[in-house]
Amino acid sequence: MMKAKPVNYKSTCSYCGVGCGILVEQDRQGRLRVEGDKDHPVNRGMLCSKGMNLHYAMQDQSDRLLFPQMRWSKGHPLARVSWDTAMKRAAAVFKSLTGKYGPDSVGFYLSGQCLTEEYYLANKLVKGFIGTNNIDTNSRLCMSSAVAAYTQTLGEDTVPVAYEDLEKADCFLVAGANPAWCHPILFRRLENHRQQHPEVRLIVVDPRKTQTCSQADLHLQLIPGTDVYLYHAIARVLIEEGNIDIDFITQHCENFEQYRRPVFEYTVSEAASTCGIEESDIRLAASWIGNAAGFISMWAMGLNQSVIGVNKNLALISLHLLTGKIGRAGSGPLSLTGQPNAMGGREVGGMATLLPAHRRLDNPLHRQEVAAFWKVPAVPERPGLAATKLFEALESGEVKAVWIMCTNPLVSLPNANQVEAALKKARFVVVQDISGQNQAIPYADLVLPAAGHFEKEGTMTNSERRITYLSKVTAPPGEALPDAEILLRFARAMGFKGFGQKNMAEVFAEHAALTRHTNIDISGLSYKRLQEEGSMQWPVPHPQHTGTSRLFENARFFTESGKARFQPVQPLNLSEQTSPSLPLILTTGRIRDQWHTMTKTGKVNKLKQHISKPFAEIHPDDAAARDIREGDVVVVENTRGQVRTRAVLTAAIRKGVVFMPMHWGKLLGQNFSRTNNLTSSLTDPVSKEPDYKFSAVQVKKY
Ligand code: SF4
Repeated sequence: MMKAKPVNYKSTCSYCGVGCGILVEQDRQGRLRVEGDKDHPVNRGMLCSKGMNLHYAMQDQSDRLLFPQMRWSKGHPLARVSWDTAMKRAAAVFKSLTGKYGPDSVGFYLSGQCLTEEYYLANKLVKGFIGTNNIDTNSRLCMSSAVAAYTQTLGEDTVPVAYEDLEKADCFLVAGANPAWCHPILFRRLENHRQQHPEVRLIVVDPRKTQTCSQADLHLQLIPGTDVYLYHAIARVLIEEGNIDIDFITQHCENFEQYRRPVFEYTVSEAASTCGIEESDIRLAASWIGNAAGFISMWAMGLNQSVIGVNKNLALISLHLLTGKIGRAGSGPLSLTGQPNAMGGREVGGMATLLPAHRRLDNPLHRQEVAAFWKVPAVPERPGLAATKLFEALESGEVKAVWIMCTNPLVSLPNANQVEAALKKARFVVVQDISGQNQAIPYADLVLPAAGHFEKEGTMTNSERRITYLSKVTAPPGEALPDAEILLRFARAMGFKGFGQKNMAEVFAEHAALTRHTNIDISGLSYKRLQEEGSMQWPVPHPQHTGTSRLFENARFFTESGKARFQPVQPLNLSEQTSPSLPLILTTGRIRDQWHTMTKTGKVNKLKQHISKPFAEIHPDDAAARDIREGDVVVVENTRGQVRTRAVLTAAIRKGVVFMPMHWGKLLGQNFSRTNNLTSSLTDPVSKEPDYKFSAVQVKKY
């Protein structure tokens, strides 16, 4: 009998927010192979090491959860059950708890890896039907500071630029990011542009000399936490030298005088000294930014994951308002999203403080619109608990049950020992995942096997607002189900109406309809269009519209007045203080070939060849003061916990700073390898994003 020919399916890489298009080929034996999609406008066929090896991660089924498992009571082992039993138990527990203690007694914790349709259904289920805003995601750990800053300055959570602007800019400022490793395909585009136009400037702001810094014309190796001083100093130079766009400021911005005051509180020389960099370098950066025809800033977790993350974002975005370099070719702020679909989640309002299509939770009219659309009496007014607060409430007993979907919080959340204590105390924990490596499973009362990336269809939105359709390529193993299907089954078991969608196209159509007449209107999009015409950038407000590459070209912003709003911010860092007993600053981050908690990339041998073991980077002077040599086992510790790891001595890091990758959780059940034992529970007061980049620690030889 003739076997079927290999088939090519279009999809998107499931790792970072660059959103590279891929072609997935399934051969006659059912094996998968991935290559870059040459027709996809983001990557034009290119893939980085992670994307190139995605099929190995997805094909390795060794850790897959294959059937629902349930603990009949705490202390009993997990036992296999049917989907019917699992859903009945989940519904019975959630009904009982919300009936007895109210809807805020339960919480849902999702992921920036969820597809938009999954996010949409979960948000509708929790906010519209269970009646609580206690639904947050690990995007809280990633982009929420940028979300707050965009909203405060531009009127909404809006990335104004398109990747095509990269090839039109002549000055880049990359801050708190290492795109050469973490957003490689975007960085390749930037490098290619610079090769063709050597006059294009690259400024990098980072306490470490990263791979990105090696390409920089100017590296500002600032002391962690001093970022706002730097951006204020650049602003001051621009203003003093008249290198600003006064027409743009007067016609299209408000609040300039209020912003100007803190900018002039410190001299450039004082700021340079606070930041630990040269005054002349600040002046040079200001002149490149001010004189550029096109200026793009790119940033990631170095700005966002901070107790003053919103202030850092505001101070950086203000440089665009000051110079009028926004809403025109080759200019604008471009936040680099860590997760593949963090933006899709924000579009559907899938966080504790948001409503669908950028509607505001504190706006009664917006709540009414959403409630009417979902045909429910009301959407609750009280904001839900953000990620870290949700787990704190679980520990205090205020929240009794948590549903964890597609994320590994015991590795990724800060102050992991406290998160573990919270899960131990919880009355009921659901873990819905593809992988048995999820370290919350030992605390789960119910484990639900989910379908993986190529095993379901849906959409994702990348960092430039581009929505791409993902084909289902292959069937999930065992009894695993797509996350959306699990949510639909749970909603029906709860007896909720409004969850009769027959397929993902219907879910997408519902989400798209809810965006109509908003600034992110995608009511002109459908699965059919995305499949036939390819990916598009929102807004796409009618079926003939082909998407919007750049926003604010008319200089009308999404604020009520239509003007962008300068925000005055204080520069002082509010992170925990170092002390004689905890004198070093720990900053955490990623390595080139691993992604998040390694449940996927950790399975690929090729990706382990780059860096296979955890480590702590320490400056040779700090190491010498502690009698630490290269490769020594060291203990990094503070009041929250300890980590045992290998010392890597490098002058690429500032003296006084230690860097550890965030990927490793408990190894072999032992607690000594989990970086997040050490990170702080402090969060930005507005964005509630944790302060991963600044924890006081001591390092000792083991
Ligand atoms: Fe995947 Fe990001 Fe690499 Fe593109 S740059 S292939 S989206 S990990």
